[in-house]
Formats: sequence, structure tokens, C-alpha cells
Amino acid sequence: MKSLVVNCGSSSVKYALFDMEGEKKIAWGLIECIGLKEGFYSRQTDKTPKIKDALEIKNHTQALELIINDLLDKKTGSISDVKEIAVIGHRIVHGGNVFSEPVISDENSKEGLRKCFDIAPLHNPSNYEGVLAAEKMLPGVPSVFVFDTAFHQTMPDYAYMYALPYQYYEKHHIRRYGFHGTSHKYVSQRAAEMLKKSAKEIKIITAHLGNGSSLTAVKNGKVIDTSLGFTPLPGIVMGSRSGDFDPAIIPFLMGIYPELKEPNALSDMLNKKSGLLGIADSSDMRGIIEAKSKGDKKSELAFKMLCYSVKKYIGAYFAALNGIDALIFTAGIGENSAPVREEICKGLEALGIEIDLAQNQRSGDERFISSANSKVKIMVIPTNEELMIAREAVKTLSNKK
Ligand code: AMP
Repeated sequence: MKSLVVNCGSSSVKYALFDMEGEKKIAWGLIECIGLKEGFYSRQTDKTPKIKDALEIKNHTQALELIINDLLDKKTGSISDVKEIAVIGHRIVHGGNVFSEPVISDENSKEGLRKCFDIAPLHNPSNYEGVLAAEKMLPGVPSVFVFDTAFHQTMPDYAYMYALPYQYYEKHHIRRYGFHGTSHKYVSQRAAEMLKKSAKEIKIITAHLGNGSSLTAVKNGKVIDTSLGFTPLPGIVMGSRSGDFDPAIIPFLMGIYPELKEPNALSDMLNKKSGLLGIADSSDMRGIIEAKSKGDKKSELAFKMLCYSVKKYIGAYFAALNGIDALIFTAGIGENSAPVREEICKGLEALGIEIDLAQNQRSGDERFISSANSKVKIMVIPTNEELMIAREAVKTLSNKK
């Protein structure tokens, strides 16, 4: 059985085809700059090396057409008939409070998805466009929506509510939703397997540290709190997003810089010009670490700010969970940056969190990096959102049958 995973951004389509027997990724690729004169299409399979072409791609339907034709290519393709694709799993950024689990695409669920356009205007309409394009290109193949927010829907109201006038929640659904749910779910399930325990009997903190980052407190397999909110802006310091800060700074700055009264300019400043980039002129942790090693003070500051913000969330979620069995690091920084993991864990011995410095330096796949004495297991688990979406799509389809 094959499951196709599709992730449509406003000007991009990322895809991966899995053979679900053995959960093997057999073809994958990315189309970028859709709608521009020069777009890019890179793809590869488990049998063929990466090819990258520059070409003009007008819209998502044309992008999907290219992808499907390549998958069917007589020489290099991975399938000989579209009927081999049993299901398409679509990554959908925001399910609002309409969706708490993956759903099969039909008129009802599409209507529900359209209702979530308002709260994710940058992402959901493109995700939806991808659904329509895939349905046009692959008629009869069921589509499943897999939401970034769904795993977080188990949060209790006192964790997801903001202390703003209640009417904003009632009228506009302003509340914490959380993101990166597919990643947090994947690594928390893997953590349980690696600990040889049921997810239902452990308490963990998952730290997804990438360009966008979030921490999640997971109790007995269910999310009880997460650091991203109504949007992917709050929480810890990120690549170019601010993370938490005093919201009264916004009207204060608007009084000084009238251009910030324009919503797009303000959103740009907070989402694209803040975080590591705002402090140290680079949103890339590798660049920050290199510049810091050469004595750049702002890079040192940015590094410490990010690690300190993660440390504070670990403390908060340790309290919310009344202790934890495991702390999981994942995503670009969490999986690859030993200095970041070391700086975060340093000084958490009081919580029973003790890193093994030698193990932490080792690179590789899934691994334990806690010391023998550490009460809390510290683990590095590479995330695999694509595989999780492929699994969820298959599971949702078979639950329906
Ligand atoms: P992601 O959004 O998960 O792709 O993660 C992107 C972030 O991971 C960027 O800040 C990268 O600098 C960071 N990253 C990737 N590899 C490394 C590495 N070897 N050391 C430090 N940071 C890394």
C-alpha cells in the first residue's frame, strides 16, 4: 500500500511517496517559486539521484501534474498506475477548534477547513488549494487532512485560554492552538517505544528546535500544554520569530514608528526580523555558533537567549507535569546541535536532568544522551513528520472502512 504525502505552501509543494509495507520512502521532492517566472523542481527516488530543474510552474495543479507524471515515468517512476496510491495525506497547518484529529476529505470537512482560513490566512488557503489540485489530478484517490494543531487539542481550557476579554474567544476563537503537532506526536510515540513503555504511562517534554520551535508537555500520550499559541509566534526564541515578549511593546513602538501601524509591516518585524536574526543578524544556528566562537558578542547573546528560553519552558512544564520521565530533543537544532543541548541541560540537575557530555557529542540517529545517574532520560529523536502524516492518512482511511 502506498501513501502520498503532500505539503502545499503558498508558492511551494513538497511531497513524499511511502511504501507502507516497511514504511519506506520511495520518492520525494520539492517544487518552489510557483507562480514566478523561474521556479525550481527537485526530486529523487530511492533508486535515482537528485535532479533539479529550473522551470516556470504556474499553479499548484500544474505542480501536482508534474509530480504525478514523474511518479509514473516508465524509466524512473515509482509507480505504474495512480491506483497504486491508496491515500493522499495532506499537511494542513491549522485545524482551529474544528478538527482534533485527521479527517477524510469530503464536502463537510472541506467546509470545516474553509472555516479555518481566517485564523491561518497565510497557510490554510494554500493547503486547501493543494487538496483541490490533488483531487483533480488523482480522481478517486481519497485525501486525508492531517493538522499541525490536532495533537494539541487535548489541552485543558486553563492552558489554552488567554486572559483577554472572554468575548474574543467566543467571537473570534482567540486561544492557544499550538503547532508542530505532527512532530511532537511522532517523537513522543518513538520515545515511548525507546523507553519500552506505553505512551499512556509516561510524562515527557518534547523540544522541537528548528527554525520555528516549540516545546510541548505530554502526559500519558496527551498534550497538556505547548509553547506556540494562536499563531506560531510566541514561546521560545526562534530563527526569525520573537517568541514571548511584552505585548505592550507593540503600541509603544507604533507610537515611534508609524510604519509599524501597517499590519503586514508589524507581522514582518515580529515573524521575519526578530529572534536570532533580530539579535545577531543570522537566523541559522550554525552561523550563530561559528560567529560566537570567533568572539561575536551578539551571537553569544542570541545563543544564550535561545537556550535560556528553552530552559525556562522545561522548568514550567516540569511543574505542570509534576515531574517527567523523558526530555526529547528534535528538529534541525535539537537533533544536530550538541552545544545547544548542553547549554539547555546545564544547571537542571535539581530536576533530575543530567546530560552525558560525551554521549551528547555523538552524532547519529535516535539515541539517549543522559548520564547513568540522570533520573530523567534525555533523548535525541530525529523527527519524521512526513512518515507520521503517511501513517495518519492510512490509519484514518482504515478506521473508516
Ligand atoms: P529545521 O527548521 O528543523 O530545518 O531546522 C533549521 C535549524 O537547524 C537552523 O537554525 C539550522 O542552523 C539548524 N541546524 C541544522 N544543522 C545544524 C547543526 N549541525 N548544528 C547546529 N544547528 C543546525
